[in-house]
Amino acid sequence: MNSDDRYRRALDTAHRHALRWLETLPDRPIAPAMDIDAMLERLDPVLPENGTDPATVIDALATQAEPGLMAMGSPRYYGFVIGGTYPSALAADWLVAAWDQNTGSRQPTPATAAFEETAARWLVDLLRLPEGSGVGFATGATSANLACLVTARDAVLRAVGHDPVAGLGAAPRVRFFAGDAVHTSVALAGRIAGLGVPATVGADREGRIDLADLERALSQSAGPAVVALQAGDVHSGAFDAFGPAIDIAHAAGAWVHVDGAFGLWARAVPRLNALTDGIERADSWATDAHKTLNVPYDCGLAVVKDESAMVSSLGVHAEYLPQAAAVSDPLSRVAELSRRARGVPVWAALRELGRTGVTELVDRLGSSAAALAEGFASIPGLTVLNEVVFTQVCVAAADDRSTAALGEWLRAEGTVWASSSRWQGRTVVRFSVSNHGTGPDAVARTIDAVRRGASAVGAADGEVR
Ligand SMILES: *Cc1c(COP(=O)(O)O)cnc(C)c1O
Repeated sequence: MNSDDRYRRALDTAHRHALRWLETLPDRPIAPAMDIDAMLERLDPVLPENGTDPATVIDALATQAEPGLMAMGSPRYYGFVIGGTYPSALAADWLVAAWDQNTGSRQPTPATAAFEETAARWLVDLLRLPEGSGVGFATGATSANLACLVTARDAVLRAVGHDPVAGLGAAPRVRFFAGDAVHTSVALAGRIAGLGVPATVGADREGRIDLADLERALSQSAGPAVVALQAGDVHSGAFDAFGPAIDIAHAAGAWVHVDGAFGLWARAVPRLNALTDGIERADSWATDAHKTLNVPYDCGLAVVKDESAMVSSLGVHAEYLPQAAAVSDPLSRVAELSRRARGVPVWAALRELGRTGVTELVDRLGSSAAALAEGFASIPGLTVLNEVVFTQVCVAAADDRSTAALGEWLRAEGTVWASSSRWQGRTVVRFSVSNHGTGPDAVARTIDAVRRGASAVGAADGEVR
């Protein structure tokens, strides 16, 4: 048996299983049939002494995994903020794995680097960010937030004469502010970057940063500062008032970073323009491609207006690394030296959709969320708690116990999957519309399931049956 046969048989096996998964995705029950403990019990805990034929390994993997797989790509999966995957993006991802190009430097991997650079330019244009911004392909918005905040920290320190290469020990304190509703990943990135968790500034009911409070917070102390704003609150979908917030922060000399993990994509839809007015005047932005753009995990984007600041913070120099002359290498825009060419599936998804297709995608996600909210609001006993401005819908029954029971009923019944959360002091069932396939049919089936669930748990009378 030559090695080509081994690839062919392993890949054919994977292909067959992948197609079966993808083709049954729209109709399978969404929650896994087995939990993690049951899954672990299925697997041999002891590393076998002898090897196994690759195709047999893949067949066993797919067969054993099946009952523990969540149908996250279903058009009726609304948990967390999770996209599905477009066919071209998935197929491109397979090629990326087959090519196995370590896309840290441009010179050794011209093909994948060129596709990534092209995708980055397309994105900056599509999201209407400043031309010439530096773009790093990170694993997700968390690592993109980190890349941007490290850049921000260094830039504000350099501006007061401290060389960040000397470390934070002798550096002036960098003040770090964010609204109350800041995403936990920004706080995590702040901690890793040595900024600590952000000092929280007030926010309104929907989670939008309080402008007067931001101004007050910035004026109460002096020194270098970083302000993190948010495009898309995970509960309400709300957007900060970017124009005024950025003016206030810049007037105080602060660097403005925007966490736009899913909300930045609103930029692609003309009717949603008002939500992100002024956002292009920030200094850096983090977003995900694996959420709204529906490429496979994992792919986030770190965008910094001043690319040279990004390269100063994240670039490395070593004699053995080939360095392209005038243009920065991919490894100088994220905190990774070796990585897969995760920007290539982004190129493929953008090429599959075109500008119009991206606009239609994001528009459809927003319209489907609005339609869900309208449907939920018509169900006796249910209330939609947020202003549905984008893709997020939080619904609650008369009391927390019934709301929790509704979430459990839905997840067990299997037509839809939505996560439970706490928001505004109440238990909620949270629907995040992020899958490219979520349209009128999914919306109708979802409203029907929620109606049955609300009735089953007695949502209208506040009594858990
Ligand atoms: C998902 C999300 C993040 C974190 O992104 P990952 O891709 O999971 O790392 C950050 N901020 C917001 C608003 C998010 O929705």
